[in-house]
Amino acid sequence: MPATKKKNVKKSNTIKLKFDTSWNYAPAPESKSAATIKKQYDLFINGEWVKPLSHKYFDTSDPANEEKLSEVAEANAADVDRAVKAARNAYEKVWKKMPAKERAKYIFRIARMVQERARELAIIESMDGGKPIRESRDFDIPTAANHFFYYAGWADKLDYAFPNRNTNPLGVAGQIIPWNFPLLMAAWKIAPALATGNTVVLKPAETTPLTALKLAEIIQESGLPEGVVNIVSGGGATGAAIVNHPDINKIAFTGSTEVGKLIQKSIAGTNKKITLELGGKAANIIFEDAPIDQAVEGVINGVYFNQGHVCCAGSRLYIQESVAPELIRKLRDRIETLIVGDPLDKNTDIGAINSKQQLDTIRRYLKIGKEEGYEMYESSCPLPAKGYWCRPTIFTDVAQSARIAQEEIFGPVLAILTFRTDDEVIQKANNTPYGLSAGVWTDKGSKIFNLTKRMRAGVIWANTFNKFDPSSPFGGYKESGFGREGGLHGLLPYVNLSH
Ligand code: NAP
Ligand code: MG
Repeated sequence: MPATKKKNVKKSNTIKLKFDTSWNYAPAPESKSAATIKKQYDLFINGEWVKPLSHKYFDTSDPANEEKLSEVAEANAADVDRAVKAARNAYEKVWKKMPAKERAKYIFRIARMVQERARELAIIESMDGGKPIRESRDFDIPTAANHFFYYAGWADKLDYAFPNRNTNPLGVAGQIIPWNFPLLMAAWKIAPALATGNTVVLKPAETTPLTALKLAEIIQESGLPEGVVNIVSGGGATGAAIVNHPDINKIAFTGSTEVGKLIQKSIAGTNKKITLELGGKAANIIFEDAPIDQAVEGVINGVYFNQGHVCCAGSRLYIQESVAPELIRKLRDRIETLIVGDPLDKNTDIGAINSKQQLDTIRRYLKIGKEEGYEMYESSCPLPAKGYWCRPTIFTDVAQSARIAQEEIFGPVLAILTFRTDDEVIQKANNTPYGLSAGVWTDKGSKIFNLTKRMRAGVIWANTFNKFDPSSPFGGYKESGFGREGGLHGLLPYVNLSH
């Protein structure tokens, strides 16, 4: 059992939460010895590690203690050009000609190797990005392997995926991913591209490049023909060089709506195909007939999972008025039991915030929420002295128009709103620029179907939250982007169909 809670003490309109540290688990950190991190990483181009033409390297560090982990090459436009040429060459000479069942063998091999090295990958993911080992070990890495397995299975069955049509690969895919699920996002992007016969140039995020570079090692060991996957680390300028390269046929981007819009502008008027997976501000709706205790756990998982660094986080909670006092009390009690701390400790619920920059963003929103006058509850848990940390936080009585209810915070912060009727809550839930995900908690199946039909969100969970499977498509409406990743739908953005 995690730290026990004490009774809330009500004092002149503010509820103080008390963290009782007298009963706690002993630390149980995962050993770092299973993780081999080189001092320096070059670019992975044409099956080899090559020095960057830019001559530049940047540091990647551990957000839990601010210590440098490694330095990583920064690809400039000339490096990106080298990677695109390698990908084009591999596409024309090898990959598009290879029988699909042979392609599948390589993807299966990569999936198995990710599984074999799961422990090391999980530790590195938690060190480089700050997420709890429980998540990287039990969610990120196994799900990444599953994506490779799933799409390996489709490679020689495209005729069944698209009956009576011919499928043709597009060519070279430029893929740009964010820092919140580094290896998983790489798998989401690379696996369907390879299965459909495309080659890849992928850029990981600046703060979390290490597992993508480890994946490059796996790809090299797997014997995948050289140039089929190229991994170029770098920052925003490297991403822009991929987007603007004339010989790229498709851009797959996951990240912020702001950068998504920039990318769309840059490729306007070109023949590049594009999918954008952008931000979100998911509504999680709890009706009075819902199983309240399960809903509490669902909300906690929905918003605090991965420090709230989740595009589909259930960060807007709508509670039906009659059950609001009980639910809010239970949620406050529950956040007080969440353990914030060492990402490598298996007891940790909330790890480190990914970067100083992201912590500043979250703090800015906490300030805005307070200034807008909403009541804020913050867990009283102790925080480590070094590193980037944020306590789980709840705002109550939030107005629909509040910035903390409208804008993506990307941190462990929940805004709670109340409602009376179905129509009202649907209107409120749909009233944001985003439309990525949502949740509904009720005892009645008919209500779930009625409601979800009227909600503008790409994924809607019912009586659960944040569940993922390689076979189910994921993607947004409105400013959350377009195109789907995962499942059969995830093949479509990588093929041209003809009769
Ligand atoms: P971001 O700033 O948009 O970065 C995403 C990626 O784009 C990073 O690799 C980044 O490089 C790169 N980039 C930055 N500027 C670029 C430019 N001008 N041209 C091309 N690439 C560029 O997003 P973030 O803040 O890292 O990630 C958090 C955001 O991602 C949130 O808004 C979240 O909702 C969204 N997200 C969405 C999904 C989804 O599936 N819908 C999943 C995860 C995250 P650097 O990192 O090196 O700057
Ligand atoms: Mg890092």
